[in-house]
Amino acid sequence: MDDLEYLNPTIERMAKSELIKLQEERLRKLMTYLRDHSNFYKKLLKNEKIDFNDIKTLHDLKRLPFTSKQDFRDNYPTGMFCVPLDKLVRYHASSGTTGRPKIVGYTKNDIHEWSKSLARGLISLGIGKDDVIQNSYGYGLFTGGLGFHYGAEMIDATIIPTGAGGTERQITLMQDLESTVMTCTPSYFLHIAEIVESLGINLRKDTKLRAGVFGAEPWSEDMRQRIEDSTGIKAYDVYGTSELSGPLFTECIHQNGLHVWADQYIVEIINPTTGEVLDDGERGELVVTTLLKEALPLIRYRTGDITNIISEKCECGRTSPRIMRIHGRTDDMLIIRGINVFPSQVESVLLKIPELSENYQLIITRKHELDRMAIKIEVSKIYKKSEFLSIKKKIINDLRNVLNLSVDVELVEAGVIPRSMGKATRVIDKRKI
Ligand SMILES: [Zn+2]
Repeated sequence: MDDLEYLNPTIERMAKSELIKLQEERLRKLMTYLRDHSNFYKKLLKNEKIDFNDIKTLHDLKRLPFTSKQDFRDNYPTGMFCVPLDKLVRYHASSGTTGRPKIVGYTKNDIHEWSKSLARGLISLGIGKDDVIQNSYGYGLFTGGLGFHYGAEMIDATIIPTGAGGTERQITLMQDLESTVMTCTPSYFLHIAEIVESLGINLRKDTKLRAGVFGAEPWSEDMRQRIEDSTGIKAYDVYGTSELSGPLFTECIHQNGLHVWADQYIVEIINPTTGEVLDDGERGELVVTTLLKEALPLIRYRTGDITNIISEKCECGRTSPRIMRIHGRTDDMLIIRGINVFPSQVESVLLKIPELSENYQLIITRKHELDRMAIKIEVSKIYKKSEFLSIKKKIINDLRNVLNLSVDVELVEAGVIPRSMGKATRVIDKRKI
């Protein structure tokens, strides 16, 4: 395969009005499909007294009820599936921290469409057949590893399926097989970079690494700056969730929002409290309808992720809507003495202070009915006591100014906070224990 600018130029550059026509056509097909194959949605629509045949346009879509994470739990393991189980070619499962995992299943075509989403994204990042992609997302029930694996194969890139962990071996392979791209969580990449440095290897000179596609945990724009400045690679964001297939939408080289593949998915933003649909540009909860999925199609699935839609055409020529980098998850939002705080907001404040490293934890406690947030963060080098005090003071002041939150701060030396091979544990909420 030659290097491509687009995987599906017709779709990716389609005029907005045509794209909407295509979405509505596929929405009507989806309604017929669900009417014929989904016991779950048949019941749901009957309860709401809605006829599948009445849903014809994007405007009509707003009449449909939401699908939620709870529906996965209530219909565990495969009650929401629309195909006989022998039509499945694969299962994955979400890493539920509490209770049952969410089980997802795929037909052959579902895997093909999912791979296409990622292949389009990789191409939009200038990644192609000459690239060597070291895939350090976990392989297994988690969707990250196999998701990227199939996407990378579709564009004829060479993939090294290292999975997460074995950091020194990762570095050896990166050098010996000349990896150009890494895919993993941003925190794991930072850990790898740290070990690289301790081994006296210079990532810029001694490796061919030029880009990373990072996701599966929330990370801030300031974290991106840190990664790019300290390692010299381009750091790109990817979004997805196992219920919708896995990793799906990536940024393009312009790093200005993640491209939603509108021929496969319809996105909406709602007010998470009232369910009201918000205008493009307004921040709220991302809701996604799948247009082409066979095994587990979803109508208006509430992802719990907070973002906004960017509707203007991107510089790369793609016409699909984009979503902003995820601001946080409704599940992750902390309420500290009545103030709503997303951990990513705290991260942004911390990483603007150059004396601090990217390794931190937020520890929430409750004493005498009063919530308290303590920040434990590593400093980037050893400082004098007076410097220590002024760094501490700066953190406290900045967080008070930006978030109106008063915190306790503990500065620790490098290496104290545990490193993660997958999703980093940034928040320890002792109120829940
Ligand atoms: Zn773009």
